[in-house]
Amino acid sequence: MITKIIAEDAIQKTKKYISNVDKIVIVTHTSPDGDAIGSSLGMYHFLEEMDKQVNIIVPNSFPDFLLWMKGAGSIINYEKSPDIATETIDAAELIFCLDFNHPKRIGNLAPLIRNAEAKKILIDHHLDPEQFCDVTMSYPLISSTSEMIFRIICRMGFFELINKACAESVYTGMMTDTGAFTFNSNNEEIYYIISELLKKGIDKDAIYSKVYHAYSADRIRLMGFITYKNMRIYKQYKTALLTLSKAEQFRFRMRKGDTEGFVNIPMSIGDVVFSVFIREDDDVIRLSFRSKGQFPCNEFAAAHFGGGGHRNAAGGEFHGSLADAIALFESVIPQYQNLLEKN
Ligand code: MN
Repeated sequence: MITKIIAEDAIQKTKKYISNVDKIVIVTHTSPDGDAIGSSLGMYHFLEEMDKQVNIIVPNSFPDFLLWMKGAGSIINYEKSPDIATETIDAAELIFCLDFNHPKRIGNLAPLIRNAEAKKILIDHHLDPEQFCDVTMSYPLISSTSEMIFRIICRMGFFELINKACAESVYTGMMTDTGAFTFNSNNEEIYYIISELLKKGIDKDAIYSKVYHAYSADRIRLMGFITYKNMRIYKQYKTALLTLSKAEQFRFRMRKGDTEGFVNIPMSIGDVVFSVFIREDDDVIRLSFRSKGQFPCNEFAAAHFGGGGHRNAAGGEFHGSLADAIALFESVIPQYQNLLEKN
């Protein structure tokens, strides 16, 4: 059995809102990851079974390794189709905000969603959500938004309406947000849920392979190149840093999603507690953080790189050059020596 973590009144309100409307929009965060797309498609397939008119809108594109998912082809990309996205949001009677805690996480979609007349329901697992929705279900202890989607559908009494496509989507999000169940994954109920998803006919081994064995040869070469050339180890801080410049991305014909997981590479080093990946983007420097144990990546990201996230996985950004971002990182890391040594 699974415990009733999510508040009953929020579940009942959600059920009522769904039953009162036809046109529903699902939005998720910029640079959508497996959980963003998984939770969105999980909700999408469920709502289709409820005979709703449902559309998913993302602020920008998502990685190719998620394209196999059923329904992924009909996701509206605001960057590519702003007019269609705007019309769809204007016509919506209910909007689900999935896997983000603050409108700033949806980029240029933020004003559209804020000003939309539709009722809004937030389903998320990041800390400190902003209260901009009519219903807020925020549970940072749940390891993925996709898991929350499963729980919410069941709590509304609709387990029977979970079809195979919905189950595959939920599983994909649960898997990717836990690094294939290698972190944030000690809650026994996760495995109860997986067994229920398996009963819906999913092939979990095939899903793993579609997500994690879908890279190009260029990506593997790039990975080898930067781990050899650009990995710095700060032994006294149990910290590793990987960097990637724009020129290197060009040289290895990098595609969207190719750097997914790079931050995890140094985590396989025995002494490394904290791993940081810094990537030069078009207009900003992006940082990803991973940690083992108690070291709070999210606090580090918030304190120095305008970011946030979870204790063991967070992100941030920096305005300036790649070299300046590295310099800032190196200047602040000594403050954390005690904390890092304890882990
Ligand atoms: Mn998530």
